[in-house]
Amino acid sequence: MSDPRAPYPHLLEPLEVAGVRLRNRVLMGSMHTGLEDGRDLQPLAAFFRERAQGGVGLIVTGGIAPNIAGWAKPFAGTLATQAAARRHQVVTRAVHDAGGRIAMQILHTGRYAYHPLAVAPTRLRSPISPFTPFELSARGVERQIRAFVRCATLAREAGYDGVEIMGSEGYFINQFISAATNQRQDAWGGDYSNRMRLPLEIVQRTREAVGPDFILIYRLSMIDLVPGGSRWDEVLTLGRAVAAAGASIINTGIGWHEARIPTIATSVPRAAFTWLTARLKQAFVEEGITTPLVASNRINTPEVAESILADGAADLVSMARPLLADPDFVVKAAQGRAQDINTCIACNQACLDHVFQNRRAGCLVNPRACHETELVVRPATRAKRIAVVGAGPAGITAATWAAERGHQVQLFDRDQAIGGQLNMARRIPGKEEFDEMLRYLGRRIQATGVQLHLGIEVQPRDLVDFDEVVVATGVKPRDPRIPGQEHPKVLSYLQVLRGQVPVGPRVAIIGAGGIGFDVAEFLAHQGPSTTLDLQAWQREWGVGDPALSPGGLAPEGPQPWPAAREVFLLQRSQGKLGAGLGKTTGWIHRTALKMKRVQMIAGVNYERIEDRGLLISHGPQREDPQWIDCDHIVICAGQEPLRTLADALQDQGRRVHVLGGARVAGELDAKRAIDEAARWALSV
Ligand code: NAP
Ligand code: SF4
Repeated sequence: MSDPRAPYPHLLEPLEVAGVRLRNRVLMGSMHTGLEDGRDLQPLAAFFRERAQGGVGLIVTGGIAPNIAGWAKPFAGTLATQAAARRHQVVTRAVHDAGGRIAMQILHTGRYAYHPLAVAPTRLRSPISPFTPFELSARGVERQIRAFVRCATLAREAGYDGVEIMGSEGYFINQFISAATNQRQDAWGGDYSNRMRLPLEIVQRTREAVGPDFILIYRLSMIDLVPGGSRWDEVLTLGRAVAAAGASIINTGIGWHEARIPTIATSVPRAAFTWLTARLKQAFVEEGITTPLVASNRINTPEVAESILADGAADLVSMARPLLADPDFVVKAAQGRAQDINTCIACNQACLDHVFQNRRAGCLVNPRACHETELVVRPATRAKRIAVVGAGPAGITAATWAAERGHQVQLFDRDQAIGGQLNMARRIPGKEEFDEMLRYLGRRIQATGVQLHLGIEVQPRDLVDFDEVVVATGVKPRDPRIPGQEHPKVLSYLQVLRGQVPVGPRVAIIGAGGIGFDVAEFLAHQGPSTTLDLQAWQREWGVGDPALSPGGLAPEGPQPWPAAREVFLLQRSQGKLGAGLGKTTGWIHRTALKMKRVQMIAGVNYERIEDRGLLISHGPQREDPQWIDCDHIVICAGQEPLRTLADALQDQGRRVHVLGGARVAGELDAKRAIDEAARWALSV
């Protein structure tokens, strides 16, 4: 029974599964980090050791392929030999030594594979891979099943407490389940009972091979969000059958990777898909099926996790990115220190975006994630007096990390509030999570003993008594030098986002980078943010009920709110707008703006601004002049470093460390600023 006096009694309640005791209900969801793929698994072991030390109940690794055909990309992490199993022991030992439990995810990507050896039920190329898969023969299917079973047996030999069989997100097993991707006529295709044979064979034969005292998680797709996806009765049938076949836990999968509905981005409401797990849970309770269920997707605070469990919607909660952001999430929750948790803001910028670029994952808010062996926080050999000017992400990180190492740090900002540009981001509908980042950074300043001075415009003479001076004064908007830009119709994005001026019903935005997109969303949106209203968000994106329509796609499609005003978003370069946005989120921003009928125009020249609005022409020959009649023109033409103080100090021959946007503004984002500042603080 849960202890009602504990801060999160349901979250912290132990659970016994397949003879394995889990110390609480937190499952670290599988997430590829890039650390799985090398031969040296020490960095992966260090990554998971910290999460086990931080109290996670059950860790699930990133996907490991059972064979070459199942690779996500060439030379992806594979477990197919005893030698590989021995290499994995460093990971399992690290977790067990820290009192944790760990299961290995077996991931066969099928037609999602990014290599020419891909296999699938039917020879159909997916929209997210250039490689057309080979269609498996019946013997080929049998070989894949054996590979799953062998992989699970080897995982046991490697010391894992269990495996997770990845049956969702549109991967190999899911491809067999859906009629849209499985057009076979043999015993593995046709009606649903044939299409679900593959997962059942895999679960049953794996259970037989590994014995009863080994956790077997099955990741079940509860809503496919693609045309022709599973109906709810099929999900339920498969859930029951998988439980009967020997699964010890059923985890929730949401949406195929090719789905065009966001499922984990920051604009997705918290716990947006828990209602599906809750529905399965209710059916299981009614039928006396006791297999524990895991809720997943956009669960990022202990409060949200606790309420899911307290409501009886699930038996465990899965969090992956929140544990990248803070390995001590569980310990802090258990100590009643939830305010000290470094909350994942679901930006994907350093985790999934990196993985899709074949780079090692990291975390925007926690640069140590996946770099544990490299970024080690050690006490300083000599405590120094350090001044940091600028309390944006770079300045706060430099200050707090240096203070944590024992330095005496004073942090100055001319504004009355910390956060710099983060204060702009948090005003965008769908970016409410940035409030959490500001809360955490504020707590860090308090906890590390940094002396904060707000509302002070620091001069060089104020900085003479310090051993080290850091200038992190950030950026200033770039001057686009457009004829007529002094017209009262012209506004800076800062004036708009701060609400300093009422904005008219027709607006042109100059510049379509991250901030141009943010401003377009801000101006086109009306009413409360749908991120804070699940039903409104479901209507906006066309999320329906799989009990009523296959795959859970609303039959009426997306029903966005009408736009608040007519918005034109412009850029000089050719090509699609927002090309520089995150790989996993750019399409969401583009789709959101299209739904609001924002007109996106590339390849323009800004000729001049007059009373009627903005005159543009097109292409290098400045053809087709066109007036955009509008009430306001908002400048979002990028940033330049704000270096007044740094230049003044350097002119006096003083040594100064310039970090973040004040150093390089191009392609500046909080990720680089924070990483750069943390590395500096560890070096001083
Ligand atoms: P940015 O992403 O560099 O975009 C600047 C925009 O201004 C581009 O569209 C550029 O396109 C245009 N531009 C550049 N020079 C210009 C000039 N002289 N005249 C007119 N237009 C000009 O900068 P930002 O939008 O200020 O964003 C700053 C940073 O914050 C970026 O790194 C951004 O990624 C990040 N951020 C990210 C997000 C996100 O959602 N991930 C959100 C907000 C901010 P053309 O040169 O083609 O005209
Ligand atoms: Fe979360 Fe962003 Fe960090 Fe990824 S990079 S773990 S989404 S905060």
